[in-house]
Amino acid sequence: MPHEQASVWQSCLVVLKKELHSQSYQTWIEPLEVQHIDPNQVVLVAPDAFFSDWVEEHYRLSIERAVYEVTSWRPSFSYSFTSQSESTENNFPDPKPVTRPVSSFPLNPRYRFDNFIVGDSNEFAFSAAKAVAEAPGKTSFNPFVIYSEVGLGKTHLLQAIGDYCLKMGTAQNVVYITAEKFISDYITSIRKRDMAKFVSTYRSADLLLVDDIQFFFVTEGSQREFFHTFNALFQNEKQIVLSADCAPPSLKGFEPRLISRFQCGLVASIDSPDLETRIAILCHKAEQQSLELDQDVAQHIAEVYSTNVRELEGALTRVVALSKLTHQPITKELVSKTLPHLRAEPRRIVVNDVLEAVCQFYGLSRSDLIGSSRKKEVASARHISMYLSKTLTSASLKLIGAELGGRDHSTVIHGCKKVEMNLKADLLLKRQIDQLRNKINVFSTKAA
Ligand code: ADP
Ligand code: MG
Repeated sequence: MPHEQASVWQSCLVVLKKELHSQSYQTWIEPLEVQHIDPNQVVLVAPDAFFSDWVEEHYRLSIERAVYEVTSWRPSFSYSFTSQSESTENNFPDPKPVTRPVSSFPLNPRYRFDNFIVGDSNEFAFSAAKAVAEAPGKTSFNPFVIYSEVGLGKTHLLQAIGDYCLKMGTAQNVVYITAEKFISDYITSIRKRDMAKFVSTYRSADLLLVDDIQFFFVTEGSQREFFHTFNALFQNEKQIVLSADCAPPSLKGFEPRLISRFQCGLVASIDSPDLETRIAILCHKAEQQSLELDQDVAQHIAEVYSTNVRELEGALTRVVALSKLTHQPITKELVSKTLPHLRAEPRRIVVNDVLEAVCQFYGLSRSDLIGSSRKKEVASARHISMYLSKTLTSASLKLIGAELGGRDHSTVIHGCKKVEMNLKADLLLKRQIDQLRNKINVFSTKAA
């Protein structure tokens, strides 16, 4: 490149360095090289396509301004890639980087196709999931969206796709993430100014599985970032699989462009399983644990628990626990002894139910919750416990404080106020509180 061109770019860099935050400058501008620059055209060399996409989306204006400031030119911009030029120079195939992104969850080995019981309610979703797993990115099922109410097997199917692709080698880099984790990673990466890692984690996926996308309504920024990730993967024919708690058009708080993206592949729903399928699921779960479960016993449980599979599993677990505790075989009589209790009218909710639910929900120990930790997550869970105890139980503020590690009633008032205030603006919190309320109701019913 002629010397004058190089020095023009050097002057642009001086301007950019002044304008941008130093971390952004180092991360996104410094690695760029200029291949060509004249009044009509600038060709920048970026390490790879996602890098140039990012620069284009976020820094293009700044670069244009800098070029104009230095030269008064208004050239057009294009990009070329370092990695491409390297791979054409030798005949060896590029080793594919198999990065295990730190932020994605490992797959749960329990969730596989071979232990997913198929019935009328889920057959369509199941067979589409298998087709996707056999040829990720190559079918018209992209994106593939599964929706259903809770506990009907969305997470199971999503992870089964990942499991299958890894085992059969149909996709190398499988990334499974919940939307909530995606959002919190996004926020952390902004705070730590480490956007490059965040972006590359998701955009390098061959198969991106995003669970519970209904949570994306929470923040605009993360939704936008997800939109760009989605487009980048889609354009590169990478497979995207999403789950949601309702059909895409009913998703609340989403930009219309995202909703329409969600619907351009295949959308499949899972319904509540019918009685036969519920019995089959129970028998299968029992078999996996090497339990003897008679058909009529299974039927008895399946008749009582009709809404979702998670509930069904829970019922089986409790019956099995009772059988072990009392050294009795699992018979219809034993089941009958437990089921009426499990389905009893809800008893009054007590503070303990709230604390139990909050600990489970946020993955905290009871001693953390009632202890003196000032960590933000713990303090916030504590405030939520106060708020829920005040609104759901008949306990006095004094009692609530006592159960929360001996805090006085003004601390409880303060905690409740804080939650009430945050609830006005924080949709994620609102949703969590709703989920916690449900959980607490279930607890108090089952423990009655
Ligand atoms: P969702 O993500 O829709 O809330 P999950 O995938 O977490 O539901 O399913 C809840 C539980 O039920 C899991 O333990 C899952 O393995 C089990 N499950 C759901 N559907 C089936 C099925 N058809 N066969 C076997 N297990 C199932
Ligand atoms: Mg799930």
